[in-house]
Amino acid sequence: MNDEDYMREALALAQAAASRGEVPVGALVVRDGEIIGRGFNAPIGESDPTAHAEIAALRDAARRVGNYRLPGATLYVTLEPCAMCAGAIMHARIARVVYGARDAKTGVHGSVLDLFAVEKLNHHAVVEGGVLAEECSHSLSAFFAARRAAKKGRPAPVAPADSSPASAAPVHIDISLAAQTLSLLDAGGTLLARYPVSTAANGPGECADSGCTPRGLHLVRARIGAGLPANTVFRARRPTGEIYSPELARQFPERDWILTRILWLSGCEPGRNRGGKVDTMRRYIYIHGTPDAVPLGVPGSHGCIRMRNADIVELFDRVAPYTRVLIRD
Ligand SMILES: [Zn+2]
Repeated sequence: MNDEDYMREALALAQAAASRGEVPVGALVVRDGEIIGRGFNAPIGESDPTAHAEIAALRDAARRVGNYRLPGATLYVTLEPCAMCAGAIMHARIARVVYGARDAKTGVHGSVLDLFAVEKLNHHAVVEGGVLAEECSHSLSAFFAARRAAKKGRPAPVAPADSSPASAAPVHIDISLAAQTLSLLDAGGTLLARYPVSTAANGPGECADSGCTPRGLHLVRARIGAGLPANTVFRARRPTGEIYSPELARQFPERDWILTRILWLSGCEPGRNRGGKVDTMRRYIYIHGTPDAVPLGVPGSHGCIRMRNADIVELFDRVAPYTRVLIRD
């Protein structure tokens, strides 16, 4: 992944902030090619003036590696950092900062002042601005336009056409628990395909051992089963060598069948579906194939998202690692 790919991930996190009514800013910490921290702006929801995207991503990364210093790491953020975040970036020993849009009001990489160039401050990160600047500033201006319109009781203005090249446009997945459907959309939000699914019989929920389907923003953390025949049986994410059949089902009536392909999900929202008792990845929540006799369109799983075998094969081939998956009520 290059700087623009990581910035798109940060933009996805900014959208998670916007969907909660927070100013859309998202941030990632990346080291050795691995995303080790994610965060988005949440001062309103958290009642916390320090809950900026950069601080949330630094906290997530530092907890994950067990060290408040993150030498060699790059911080990606959709908006030029403020003075508070610049301080946190220095304390964390971040090596490189990449941001999207400039912030004329609070930016401290040259917009208001340039803290990163002050010789007397003892740490100097390399700072690079303007990566996907247009998309980043559009995401902010669209949010503020929608909010102004909402205050005046008018519908939000239609967003201008996406200027990013179609070839770079990744797909994303939207799962509706109410409708029991999975939709595949392109970057512009155009529907590419829609499939029936079956999510948790216990309904929505994020806690470990709840048997519920988690909500919120996720990523496809791993794709498992490429090229294997339909109805391949998995246990603990490994093919057992069996091919599902009604006879096999009669032999093992108590087994929870995971068939054909697995898309293993990881939560992106610390405290909601990431970390601690609400960690989607450690709960082993997948999108996976299910026996063709299992009814879809009605909740019935232990937490995973079940799909028809033919559908998961088709979906799997169109979904790259780190594809966004939004699960909503
Ligand atoms: Zn800040």
